Amino acid sequence: MIKDTKHFKEILENQKVQLEADLSGIGRRDPKNPNDWEATVTDLDVLPADENDVADMFEELEGNKALINALEEQLREVDEALTKIGTDKFGICEVCDKEIEDDRMDANPSAKTCKEHMN
Ligand SMILES: [Zn+2]
Repeated sequence: MIKDTKHFKEILENQKVQLEADLSGIGRRDPKNPNDWEATVTDLDVLPADENDVADMFEELEGNKALINALEEQLREVDEALTKIGTDKFGICEVCDKEIEDDRMDANPSAKTCKEHMN
């Protein structure tokens, strides 16, 4: 069965916009590498006077880094899926070359494997 790629393209492009919006909320693009995002805190230029506030700020920065890594990973998968759209690789399991189940594609259009090989 041929996948409705137009439908998935729309979903993936929306996901990409959303992920980039989430990333810009907590970080900024590395000017030297637009695919790489770095964590920022609201007022890094102004160090708070209270050392507890400084600790909070660095905690926030660490949390943002972890979140950025997770979002970057998702963004990479979405980008990868978008480059596959229009080729015969889209919706095909990378492990067994079989078609990925429709319900799995609906749940996650950037899925790279079928249910059997999802782990
Ligand atoms: Zn498979």
